[in-house]
Amino acid sequence: MLEKLSTEDRGVLVTALEKAEKTEEELRYLADHDTLTGLLDRRRFRAELDQYVSFSARYGGQGAVMIVDIDGLKGINDSLGHHAGDNLIRQVAGIMRERVRETDVVARLSGDEFAILMPQTDTEGALHLGEELREQVAESARPAPEADCATISVGITMFGGKQGAGSEVVLIAADQAMYQAKEEGRNQIALFRDPGEPKRNPPPRRQTTAARIRDALTHDRLSLHTQPIRNLASGGIERYELLLRMTSEDGELLPAASFITAAERSGMIQELDRWVVARALKLLVEREQAGRPVSLHVNLSGASLADISVLEFIERRLDEGGADPSRCTFEITETGSVHDYEAAAGFADRLTDFGCQVAIDDYGAGFGPFHYLKRVPFDLLKIDGSFVRDMPRSDADQLTVRAIVEIARGLGKTTIAEFVQDDVTTQMLREYGVDLAQGYHLGRPVDISEALEDL
Ligand code: GH3
Ligand code: MG
Repeated sequence: MLEKLSTEDRGVLVTALEKAEKTEEELRYLADHDTLTGLLDRRRFRAELDQYVSFSARYGGQGAVMIVDIDGLKGINDSLGHHAGDNLIRQVAGIMRERVRETDVVARLSGDEFAILMPQTDTEGALHLGEELREQVAESARPAPEADCATISVGITMFGGKQGAGSEVVLIAADQAMYQAKEEGRNQIALFRDPGEPKRNPPPRRQTTAARIRDALTHDRLSLHTQPIRNLASGGIERYELLLRMTSEDGELLPAASFITAAERSGMIQELDRWVVARALKLLVEREQAGRPVSLHVNLSGASLADISVLEFIERRLDEGGADPSRCTFEITETGSVHDYEAAAGFADRLTDFGCQVAIDDYGAGFGPFHYLKRVPFDLLKIDGSFVRDMPRSDADQLTVRAIVEIARGLGKTTIAEFVQDDVTTQMLREYGVDLAQGYHLGRPVDISEALEDL
């Protein structure tokens, strides 16, 4: 029939068909997406989750579901107007979309509730993303230009494994975790640990995370893991980062990300930092005496940087214990947990005086990266993992990493890349001239006793 039409008519027909196709596409999009944010809606999210949960039940592999709910949106609507509330919802959606991986599924479930499905991730990866989102919202999401930043509460649950729970149960578990985060004061992350039977078997204790940390401190249930930091040129291990772990009453090993926020809010973070410092310095001495010295990285929280007593503690322990300070690097973060640049700069200055090294952690993830470099003395720059994780697939990440390397080199500083997950990334980092690297591909964190056997 087409042959019988004039060229002109054919053109009209083709345009009409294309238009119809486009409209159909648009309609399909509208049916699946939420109009305010452009994210998938609840129905589509459920469909994706169903599919992935049954896939992982059959073929193995775990994943995570995260529920994000804006804190106090009703009050924001009441005081600043519905328009400001809408604006905030869009901003939170934007942050989520920007921070997730390509394979993650992001949806707006209802009013101010969002969900992310993260296939093929572990607890640590999920908590890291949750923390990134929580932090960025608290630092940048304003319902109105002059208003304070809003906050979110985040609930996470893992799923997968042979007798894995169904998607309904997974969603309920993530929701319960989110409510726990609300109960613990909002602007928090909570992890649901047993997606098996969340409704019938609610967590028996209503102990807060802060109380659990206190308990762990007094009952010696804190421990250290180490992750190797390799020299990219030689492949050799040059340093180890110390990572804090807490064992729950049920014997489960919890990564720091699951309790650090609570520790910060309850003012217990300095106590945890002191605990790690003491262990690290003791370890340095032991290794030195055994004739097999190591170099260790210790993370310090933003709160500790503003606390002179932590600095005094470090100085005293260095003096008394006799550890070689040049083997101890303190990692201080560049992100929002540092509120007082002057204090951080002063702290870093003193650490340098002691003969210790200073590394700037999470570099590039904060809001004043250049400002920070100018003010805080440092020896090493750790490029934030969010730029490294997807680097082979992201031109923007590649450019960012190269720019950071250039700055660090210009300043005569050493660079470290974290979250290195494959060979391609390792190769690219080497080409860019990054000095050191860490990540699952280069060495997973293991319990310190296990690591020391090999040292
Ligand atoms: P909480 O900290 O416990 O989360 O309190 P909340 O005030 O955020 O309340 P909740 O999450 O229970 O309820 C969400 C509220 O958000 C209900 C409604 O007033 C408001 N809301 C829901 N959808 C929209 C929307 O599309 N735009 C705006 N501006 N507000 C919405
Ligand atoms: Mg809410």
